[in-house]
Amino acid sequence: MASRARERVLVAGGAGFIGSNLCERLLGDGAEVVVLDNFQTGRPENLDHLRGSPRLDCIAHDVTEPLPAAITGRSFSHIYNLACPASPPAYQADPEHTLLTCVLGSRNLLRLAEAQRARYLLSSTSEVYGDPEVHPQREDYRGWVSCTGPRACYDEGKRAAETLAFDFDRMGRAEVRVVRIFNTYGPRMDPEDGRVVSNVICQALTGQPITIYGDGSQTRSFCHVDDLVEGLVRMMAYEGLQPGPVNLGNPNELTVSDLVERVLRLTRSGSPVTALPLPQDDPRRRKPDIARARALLGWAPRVGLEEGLKATIPYFAAELGRESPAFRF
Ligand code: NAD
Ligand code: UDP
Repeated sequence: MASRARERVLVAGGAGFIGSNLCERLLGDGAEVVVLDNFQTGRPENLDHLRGSPRLDCIAHDVTEPLPAAITGRSFSHIYNLACPASPPAYQADPEHTLLTCVLGSRNLLRLAEAQRARYLLSSTSEVYGDPEVHPQREDYRGWVSCTGPRACYDEGKRAAETLAFDFDRMGRAEVRVVRIFNTYGPRMDPEDGRVVSNVICQALTGQPITIYGDGSQTRSFCHVDDLVEGLVRMMAYEGLQPGPVNLGNPNELTVSDLVERVLRLTRSGSPVTALPLPQDDPRRRKPDIARARALLGWAPRVGLEEGLKATIPYFAAELGRESPAFRF
């Protein structure tokens, strides 16, 4: 692999939760990093601790619009496309824009990759499997997705984004890498973004009722962001033939009720639990098969859920101006 000191990296969506953690890692590795973000769900302050670096630049722009000269006039060796809201309330707030972000954003960034002979990585999602009939989900499972439901703007948008990426690759127009990210959590998640980890920790820390949608028996498999970023970097660096999409996630599956129980215990919270209706098309279960990531990238998550939550709870406590419980690691 070429030295990352010479990498000139564009991170679309770099002000978001995963993007800002990725930028931190890339700068630490010596890369030059340009963030392109419209700050729709990302926060400028996610990058505050990195602004002292002369190797970081940040450009406000929406990827659905033609890319500005400030981007096309530079030369990039690597392009990460993370630009898309990821939380269901956020991506459903403006479904038309979400779908266009996936499709037009991918097209604009793929054309940039083509023009600059840059390697392109798409952050796709486990949502391409929909409400899966196959468990755990392997990359060759084609999914069970509604194209008319409220999640479709995101699910189908990401499926189309994958299609476009593989078409560019097949036609020799760009070298692409596609990862399918499963539920990820950790520092710099937006406390307001509505995902289960952020909701439950914030509710527990503030004594608010814990909102469980449905009966809490649905499952997810939560990956700490440090592990995820390691997987992204390894996938971008992968030098073999087109590896196909690669799942990145932690196979440790648990129910939403289990997650709530752990957070209540770790925060020593007395918050009551309240049941709200299960959103339409909410997947019943989700767990990645990560055999491909292990074989191709030598990657597997290292941070267990308990350890990851203990590292994440103090972040949310600070965001909320609350005292964090003390943990013994
Ligand atoms: P996030 O909402 O925190 O970050 C997304 C970033 O993209 C934000 O900074 C946002 O402002 C920016 N953005 C959104 N639309 C844009 C547009 N049209 N133009 C420019 N910038 C735009 O979400 P995240 O959790 O960091 O997710 C990052 C990527 O990973 C997304 O593509 C998401 O689909 C994917 N992903 C995340 C998860 C997860 O659990 N976090 C799971 C699967 C896939
Ligand atoms: N969920 C919940 N309470 C919340 C937020 C979410 O019970 O306050 C549920 C949600 O219905 C889903 C699971 O937790 O079954 C994960 O939701 P999230 O939005 O974090 O991710 P996704 O649905 O995209 O996997």
